[in-house]
Amino acid sequence: MPAILPGSTVGVLGSGQLGRMFAIAARQMGYRVHTFSPDTDTPTGQVADLEVVASYDDLDAVREFSRGVSVVTFEFENVPALTARAAAEFAPVRPAGDVLHTTQHRLREKGFLSAAGFPVTPFAACRSLRDVEQAFGALGPGVLKTASFGYDGKGQRKILSRDDVESVTGPSPEVEYIYEQLVDFDRELSVVAARGADGAFASWGLIENTHANHILDLSVWPARVTPALEKEADEIAHGILEKLDVVGVLCVEFFLTKSGRLLVNELAPRPHNSGHLTIDASVTSQFEQQLRAVCGLPLGPTTRLRPAAMVNLLGDVWDTAGGRPNWSAGLEFPGVKLHLYGKLSPRSGRKMGHLTAVAETVDEAVRSATAARGAIARG
Ligand code: AMP
Repeated sequence: MPAILPGSTVGVLGSGQLGRMFAIAARQMGYRVHTFSPDTDTPTGQVADLEVVASYDDLDAVREFSRGVSVVTFEFENVPALTARAAAEFAPVRPAGDVLHTTQHRLREKGFLSAAGFPVTPFAACRSLRDVEQAFGALGPGVLKTASFGYDGKGQRKILSRDDVESVTGPSPEVEYIYEQLVDFDRELSVVAARGADGAFASWGLIENTHANHILDLSVWPARVTPALEKEADEIAHGILEKLDVVGVLCVEFFLTKSGRLLVNELAPRPHNSGHLTIDASVTSQFEQQLRAVCGLPLGPTTRLRPAAMVNLLGDVWDTAGGRPNWSAGLEFPGVKLHLYGKLSPRSGRKMGHLTAVAETVDEAVRSATAARGAIARG
């Protein structure tokens, strides 16, 4: 297929901050952007050329949308399979609907990974309390997660003892669950990587992530790990993108166990929160790379310009600041860049924006980013 060149229109299913940053990268390179989601005045819609408002189940609207663009990508992996299929009638969907199908269901995803020989924590499928009891008996302490629609720790609970098993209400037979053996991890890491239409591969290497209340709080690049671990993680990521035949960007989330093993926790078939720092710290951002990949253009260099740290700005910052975050105070810190997503109501736990700090060292970048956020939150 010939490359989709600047001047063409790209379509994004979903309308959150990932679509917004993709749209900004696409417009910078001279593309037009259409976005499709059930909402209005969205982070993506605010910067797109066209915001289509319809349900993902409205397949006629999806077809109409797809007719108006040269390629369809997504920023939200819970787009229903039928929606991706309807879109694919009129334009290529990248990554393909099959990738969505595998990655939007934890059991399918872990099943794929373990069958292909990628390292994952032992897991079991559960539909009943009896299944949970058996899984606890076989695997010991674990995390019970809904197989679909879980993110940022939603739909998850830790099972550490028999008492925890007893206190599980449900699981209801209509809902599928995955029981994962608890990983005693030293750190959480991720690799954001891209694969081009020609099979080329590019990765930013390991990023180190810290979560607070199950939501990503801090990402650091480069991760403070050995070159051998970098190599191993990149090889796993490359293998996964190949095996899934991804054209686009995909993030592999890892646990690094206390004994130094890498285990794949989760895949996200799109740019990822941990990769936001590539906007300010890399020659090519994850969003430009997604555009290049889905348009069949050469992938860009992932060279690091400077060490970087990213902190999320949740709605809680507005609460702490009495509704008036002190942006000026935050921007006084050298090397700090502000990204806001245009969301209208700053609810607690909602991702409203992020700060990236670039510096001489990652430790310095972490200090700047966290101090800047603190200053903003003081109001
Ligand atoms: P997930 O939605 O699967 O990424 O899980 C959210 C967070 O819960 C992860 O980033 C971990 O901090 C924690 N978590 C998830 N699964 C496990 C596990 N099997 N063992 C230990 N911690 C986990």
